Amino acid sequence: MKYPKLRELKEAITALLKGPYTSGFPYEAHRPAKRFRGKPEYSNEGCVACAACSLVCPARAIEARDVIIEGRATRKMILHLDECHYCGQCSALCTTRDDTPPGIKHTAEFDLAGFDRAAMTAATDEKELALCEACGAIITAKAHLEWAAKRLGPLAFSNPTLFASSLKGMGFCEDVIQAAKDRVLRSDRVKILCAKCRRKATIEKF
Ligand code: SF4
Ligand code: SF4
Repeated sequence: MKYPKLRELKEAITALLKGPYTSGFPYEAHRPAKRFRGKPEYSNEGCVACAACSLVCPARAIEARDVIIEGRATRKMILHLDECHYCGQCSALCTTRDDTPPGIKHTAEFDLAGFDRAAMTAATDEKELALCEACGAIITAKAHLEWAAKRLGPLAFSNPTLFASSLKGMGFCEDVIQAAKDRVLRSDRVKILCAKCRRKATIEKF
């Protein structure tokens, strides 16, 4: 083309007058846009350790690490930043996303390069797990059951697991974890049960 396009000429003159569009990083601190999805960070207060974020993470970058030692079961949520591609699914679908603070949210932190991949993690504290009082299987985190009971309000009374969890949360009764057994009885219905044992106690014939 013989002459430069007028639009390009206009852009060249504007850039001369206003300076470059790009930021001066790393010589100047960069300020990301308001909705920028930087390093995801957990909130110990907001996270109920339900593990939903690990199920929706397309990169499988989130681990729910469950440990059972001598009847005490805990879960720690661990996000491996070296595998995260900052898609935002974890924060968008976090169970407590509408709470203050939410369980997980993106910060504006973006300068995350490093050499030690094992150190590139974001994690919660250990949270206690609720175990089935009939078979000992993991149900979910106690904080998750309490969150659900609060959210449901009086409706939670129709679910013995939620009802008993809230009573325990308030200190009105204690944990009654039994050894695994082959039969779940009707009398077990008022206990904290996993879905499988709840089904057995509710609809199976003895
Ligand atoms: S509360 Fe949110 S951040 Fe915590 S485990 Fe559940 S989905 Fe993940
Ligand atoms: S931002 Fe996306 S890839 Fe990263 S942890 Fe969350 S869901 Fe996984």
